[in-house]
Amino acid sequence: MRKRVFSGARPTGRQHIGNYVGAIQNYVALQAEYDCIYCIVDIHALTTLEDTESIREDTHEMVLDWLAAGIDPQKSIVFVQSHVPQVMELHTLFSMVTPLSWLLRVPTFKEKVKMQPENVNYGLVGYPVLMTADITLYRGEVVPVGEDQLPHLELAREIVRRFNSLFGVVFPEPQGKLTNLPLVLGLDGVQKMSKSYDNQIEISASPEEISKRVMTAVTDPARKYRSDPGHPEICNVFRLHNFFTPARVEEIAVECRGARIGCVDCKKTLAESISLNLEPFRERRASLASKPGYVNEVLADGANRAEAIAEETITEVRRKMRLLQRSDLD
Ligand code: SF4
Repeated sequence: MRKRVFSGARPTGRQHIGNYVGAIQNYVALQAEYDCIYCIVDIHALTTLEDTESIREDTHEMVLDWLAAGIDPQKSIVFVQSHVPQVMELHTLFSMVTPLSWLLRVPTFKEKVKMQPENVNYGLVGYPVLMTADITLYRGEVVPVGEDQLPHLELAREIVRRFNSLFGVVFPEPQGKLTNLPLVLGLDGVQKMSKSYDNQIEISASPEEISKRVMTAVTDPARKYRSDPGHPEICNVFRLHNFFTPARVEEIAVECRGARIGCVDCKKTLAESISLNLEPFRERRASLASKPGYVNEVLADGANRAEAIAEETITEVRRKMRLLQRSDLD
């Protein structure tokens, strides 16, 4: 029996190379070993989003990227969180067994309070409860996580343990699959690559767009002239070569240190490598995008398959909680 993986991601629109070498390639690889459920968590996005104008398009573009990158909807369930409303019910039921003190001590909650003091909404504090509902509604057993997400998963496990001890065992305790996803810095070389910092390269970008973006990348700040020896170990362009030009990194490092290559040429090489690496992806994306309604079909099928699991779970939850069910009235 293959274990079930659950993972959710906010709808952030067209994905960038940081998402690609981090989460997406991992999602694709997990399909070989696990039954995977990949969810676009649009309700979670509302905890920090006040303007929802682009959420539909962002969902569509992100799913298109996922599918073109190799997430196979025949193998995996790909769906939108809000399309299976049973998750809201489970969230509410879990909220009754989750002490508020557990939620108030979550480090990311404290950070968010600092970041958006004008919008400390109820959803923000309940975020880990909804996340627990996401995983357990589909009886997710394995959750790919980075080190920074381990406290969230531990909280989910605590909520599950408490529910199971109060009402009887319904849920498996989800296990974290620690994944050392590489941190990809943006073109500024300082912040994590992110659309919100406008320092990203989209994986669907054309070769011309890739080249234009790479040319703006910050390099070794100490290298003012071409004749200055460079320090590849502190240069973000070099870090990106590690992902996209792995066969030539040693050579590039030597040429950089010996001032035998200029930063413009080095960036040209990087732009070509990124472009070449992503060529098959771009072709698949264009082909999928040319099929009208394809993404919607995948999401509709994903929602149906996810809801079948969800309905079974929530019925058992109601039964274990001894709630009078509508079906009892017949
Ligand atoms: S030559 Fe390349 S690795 Fe060296 S500083 Fe310039 S961009 Fe960075």
